[in-house]
Amino acid sequence: MGEVVGDFEGDLKELRDTFNSGKTREASWRRSQLHGIISLLKERESDIFKALKQDLGKHHVEAYRDEIGTVAKSANYALGNLNKWMGSKRVKVPLAAFPSRGKLVPEPLGVVLIISSWNFPFGLSLEPIIGAIAAGNAVLLKPSEIAPTCSSVLAETIYYYLDNSAIKVVEGGSSVGEKLLRLKFDKILYTGGPRVGQIVMAAAAKNLTPVTLELGGKCPAVVDCMSSSWDQKIAIKRIIWGKFGACAGQVCIGIDYILTQKKFAPTLVEFLKKHIKKSFGDNPMGSNNIAKIVNKKHFSRLKDLLNEPNVKNSIVYGGSLNEENLFIEPTILLDPPLDATIMTEEIFGPLLPIITLEAIEDSIQFIRSRPKPLAIYGFTNNEKLQKRMMCETSSGSITFNDAIIQYAIDTMPFGGVGGSGFGRYHGKYSFEDFSHQKAVLVRGYLIDFGFRYPPWNDKKLQLLKSGLRYNYLTLVLIKLGLKSKA
Ligand code: NAD
Repeated sequence: MGEVVGDFEGDLKELRDTFNSGKTREASWRRSQLHGIISLLKERESDIFKALKQDLGKHHVEAYRDEIGTVAKSANYALGNLNKWMGSKRVKVPLAAFPSRGKLVPEPLGVVLIISSWNFPFGLSLEPIIGAIAAGNAVLLKPSEIAPTCSSVLAETIYYYLDNSAIKVVEGGSSVGEKLLRLKFDKILYTGGPRVGQIVMAAAAKNLTPVTLELGGKCPAVVDCMSSSWDQKIAIKRIIWGKFGACAGQVCIGIDYILTQKKFAPTLVEFLKKHIKKSFGDNPMGSNNIAKIVNKKHFSRLKDLLNEPNVKNSIVYGGSLNEENLFIEPTILLDPPLDATIMTEEIFGPLLPIITLEAIEDSIQFIRSRPKPLAIYGFTNNEKLQKRMMCETSSGSITFNDAIIQYAIDTMPFGGVGGSGFGRYHGKYSFEDFSHQKAVLVRGYLIDFGFRYPPWNDKKLQLLKSGLRYNYLTLVLIKLGLKSKA
């Protein structure tokens, strides 16, 4: 796809003019745009399916589950909560400030830039747009050029279904992204890798633009041996799904690697093999149930991971690659070297290393000694271990006995910490991420303390000191001689 490098100042000016007109602040406008997203997803479902198949080889059921259904749910959730989110919130004001009323009033930030990634091209573009328009902003979206069909479906449908004077799409790759970053936005939400995250943050710093960085990293799954065979069976299903079941493992919160006990590892490998066969058959490539690798560059990157010394001979399942179809079989590796790239960089593909430890509790130190993950998973019913993992590790989120599902829970914020990003969105957190909570204080004229005004004297100093020590009522009582200073 050729890059569209144009003069985006005109687009930005139109968005700013629309924002300044006050149109996007109207609740009716916000509602109409959220309904527009729902209609887009409903009426253009088959175009979205085709685009996701073309760019990523996603089965339409997977496409519906991860992108259409999840986004429609979020838009409906925003519609159902919009009045509550938009309302001001009273805050307590100290008696010393009597008479006054205080409240927090959410206001939109202005024109926001959303730069999204390719692995969930619709979800990672529309989910932040939902938050931005619910909060009353104008939006410029730049989808990823790496999923070109999805990018052009987004551009075409957003133009058709949403208000083009307030929501625009600019297509293109890094040079378009860089050009956009030279312009002044009021907020940037970026989803992608940390290298570009640094470019985004540096560009934003020049304009003091706030940023939310949704990055990635290596998400570990601590897998404990469970006493109940039923629990064990469900856990294995969820682990396979959390690694291979969405976009062939090209997922920021997908399981990157497993930590387990040495003595349990052989059983775990057998369980995993059995369930991979059950999910994807003996010929996963022909099964149509697993997505492809997005492009040749990522295919070669994954191939190179396997070709490093002592990595290939750690493969205990799978390992076959088909370059023509950009397909990599679900692959399990047992104890690959810890200094190999597969264990130092985010895998972002269907390769699953299992690292064995003497005791399951050792996984805590293993995780702590590495960068903070976007997500940590613990498959265990051991409450003591759950508590230790929760308290002694740091990550964007921690989920016990499942994977990825936390992404779709509107009441929970989604975002990273440390190297996995900062800022958070989804549900009301999206609304807050794209809003400023303005502090509004309304004072009355009934009572006024003269000691806050010059000319200064030591008596005023004493009263100021008392004013900071006592609340208003005590001050009045002292003044009336009904109470002595403590
Ligand atoms: P990427 O950083 O290469 O690209 C992301 C976006 O940035 C694309 O739209 C791209 O065109 C744009 N871009 C690239 N270079 C740019 C530049 N110089 N200036 C401005 N924009 C530029 O990332 P990617 O390969 O698309 O995504 C993979 C990474 O993203 C992984 O690390 C993954 O974990 C992470 N990710 C995170 C989330 C999340 O929600 N936290 C979701 C998906 C992916």
